[in-house]
Amino acid sequence: MNPAALEEAARERDAADPLREFRARFALPRGTGRREPVYLCGHSLGLMPLAARTRVAEELEAWAHDAVEGHEAGRRPWIPYHENFAAGLAALTGAHPDEVVAMNSLTVNLHLMLAGFYRPHGARRRILIESGAFSSDRYAVASQIAWHGLDPAADLIELTPAPGADLIEESDIEGHLARHGPEVALVLWPSVQFRTGQAFDTARIARAAHACGALVGFDLAHGIGNLPHRLHEDEADFAVWCSYKYLNSGPGAIGGAFVHRRHLGAAGVPGTRLEGWWGHEPRTRFRMEPGFTAAAGAAAWQVSNPPILAAAPLLASLEVFREAGIEALRRKSLALTGWLEELLAPLAGAVSLITPHDPARRGCQLSLRIGGGAGRGREVFERLTHAGVVGDWRAPDVIRLAPVPLYNSFLDVARGAAALERALRG
Ligand SMILES: *Cc1c(COP(=O)(O)O)cnc(C)c1O
Repeated sequence: MNPAALEEAARERDAADPLREFRARFALPRGTGRREPVYLCGHSLGLMPLAARTRVAEELEAWAHDAVEGHEAGRRPWIPYHENFAAGLAALTGAHPDEVVAMNSLTVNLHLMLAGFYRPHGARRRILIESGAFSSDRYAVASQIAWHGLDPAADLIELTPAPGADLIEESDIEGHLARHGPEVALVLWPSVQFRTGQAFDTARIARAAHACGALVGFDLAHGIGNLPHRLHEDEADFAVWCSYKYLNSGPGAIGGAFVHRRHLGAAGVPGTRLEGWWGHEPRTRFRMEPGFTAAAGAAAWQVSNPPILAAAPLLASLEVFREAGIEALRRKSLALTGWLEELLAPLAGAVSLITPHDPARRGCQLSLRIGGGAGRGREVFERLTHAGVVGDWRAPDVIRLAPVPLYNSFLDVARGAAALERALRG
């Protein structure tokens, strides 16, 4: 398509997009070049909802004016602050509000969940993850295994794709568990894989794990805010996430966790949860008595009082998600990413797609491998960056581009695809 026709086609799509107004609710990076950059990097750091400024400023004001009273008074008292997030997080994860809590950061939450849910005993002591898992997740599970006095070299199982393949299929996981299930204590899997953009059938993975007597946890780092989840219905035992990728809550924002209802309350995992005062039942927390009475729901997993200034932007973000609706966002996402794939199709040969072609098996991100080796890929990526397209590079040879339905337009997609075509020409 010639550039003018392509822009015209993009503008038509944007005009017909029922969610187009949401772009104006975000701060778009201005860059330093002639043209504003095309930001396709929401998989790494989501853009700032403009309302985040207000929400943070409100808390600074509360601190300035109310000081210690801010814990109990003012617009949003800090003691029950986490309650502001329950409904929004529940909607995005497919959970009951008492199953989710905003707290800490992702890897810390993963450790807290593993402390409760990874309980090796007898022959059942292995953790199953994917090979090529996000480094932090791998470090967390390997160190947990070692912390139990076991050997990660023997008890951390990293499932690899079939020879020559980039993707692990759900059937590979089922196959492994059918053969080795009795040795597996826990399966930890991403809902969306960070490098390939592959979305997994979490219900199917949970079924396979439970069928062999293992527990299952999901890492939603690249899934939450990207596509809908059904954690409760899928019978996930636990899940964790960060809020600075598709949740647009800013660098180092407060993370979150899900604990399935069947593990909550008296029937839960008493004695295995690592506890702190903020997980204590709030009415009697400040008596500061030695005995711990758990708060209702996943809130009992909180350890410390939350970082209010790192949590306030999440309020702004969840307000935007509530207005737009994750189902409507997913519909736009399928159209945006589908169009990007279509525009890249003529480049087949020079560019190959690692992400599944089937839209049901991916989120918004496309992961591309440039033909001609990693050196050539890096060169193309640098040209793309120079042209003002913000994506990222994942060693050894992957370019990740993510059109985000909340703030990316079809014009962004057209410009990104055109810039990639030019970058390949030299
Ligand atoms: C982004 C990401 C992390 C980051 O962990 P933090 O604890 O937030 O620093 C961890 N795991 C996965 C899968 C991620 O995508």
